[in-house]
Amino acid sequence: MTSGPVSRDRLGRPLGSLRISVTDRCNLRCSYCMPEDSYIWLPRASILTFEELERLAGVFVRLGATKIRLTGGEPLLRHDLPDLVARVARIPGVADLAMTTNALLLSRFAGALRRAGLRRITVSLDTLRPERYRDMTRADRMPEALAGIAAAQAEGFADLKLNAVVVRGVNDDELFDLLEFGRAQGMEVRFIEYMDVGGATRWADRLVVPRVEMLERIAARYGKVLPSADRDPAAPAERFRLPDGTPFGIIASTTEPFCRTCDRSRLTADGMWFLCLYAAEGVSLRDRLRAGATDEELAQLIQQGWAARTDRGAEERVATTDRGALYQVDGLRRDPHREMHTMGG
Ligand code: SAM
Repeated sequence: MTSGPVSRDRLGRPLGSLRISVTDRCNLRCSYCMPEDSYIWLPRASILTFEELERLAGVFVRLGATKIRLTGGEPLLRHDLPDLVARVARIPGVADLAMTTNALLLSRFAGALRRAGLRRITVSLDTLRPERYRDMTRADRMPEALAGIAAAQAEGFADLKLNAVVVRGVNDDELFDLLEFGRAQGMEVRFIEYMDVGGATRWADRLVVPRVEMLERIAARYGKVLPSADRDPAAPAERFRLPDGTPFGIIASTTEPFCRTCDRSRLTADGMWFLCLYAAEGVSLRDRLRAGATDEELAQLIQQGWAARTDRGAEERVATTDRGALYQVDGLRRDPHREMHTMGG
């Protein structure tokens, strides 16, 4: 199959980035993501094999995607993940291969991931207080996350990022502690506004700490915050610098979304392709793949889907009056693909 020009959607956005949710399973139960007591999991037989994932990733890359991020669920729960990393890393045209993880299993896998060709890791860690970690995640495992970070650093992952979802009244008193932890560890912290995505059934407007408020609080503590010049316009985080040069970012998907530059789409572990985190429906690439579609036919399907894309999910949410949780539990149970942990964060 030959590569064509970069595919563009109806708003002129290039197909630049693919997030692959390699499993819907997670070893944490974060209150803003998986607050329920039980979940409907994707049937095992429906989960794409590494061969199938590699093939689909290759088709996306040939259509112009240069950035691939492995996520989930918790990606390190997928058996033999370094094997998948190696397969994706050797696809010609993959310029940026990254993973988002809660780091609990990183001590075990950091070396193998590095050798397989993974270059960038984003660690999700919302608090530095063990008891709060236990309350927020329903798992008393903060030491394992910290050990995972240390292992990744020891294996040479220099460009680690730290994602923290900020929830008012829960962890918003840790902005400075997290910034200082990031500075000490050489990790760039990115504060994420609490989003009303699928799965966030406890979401409420009053729990969101808007980007402007975070910036005000940080400036009041450290002095003038400067915007960073070196920003990838398609990246979700807006980057800043403290007066001493410490970089940090804010992902303001809830109050100041950036749909106009969104080049991302998402593939679930069972091969559903979603054009937006807020999309209610996806396209089953698995069905076509398993029905015997050639790479050319898959490319055509993906190209057509992208060309028709008009999604501006986060911007439409801002315009919603009476904004509340996107879905209630019964809606998510009817179609678990709508869960953030299934679609891939
Ligand atoms: N398990 C991995 C991890 O913890 O990084 C990857 C999957 S997780 C769904 C990916 C990211 O989505 C995490 O940084 C998580 O904090 C974020 N996330 C989940 N629910 C969110 C919400 N309601 N608002 C904002 N971010 C959310």
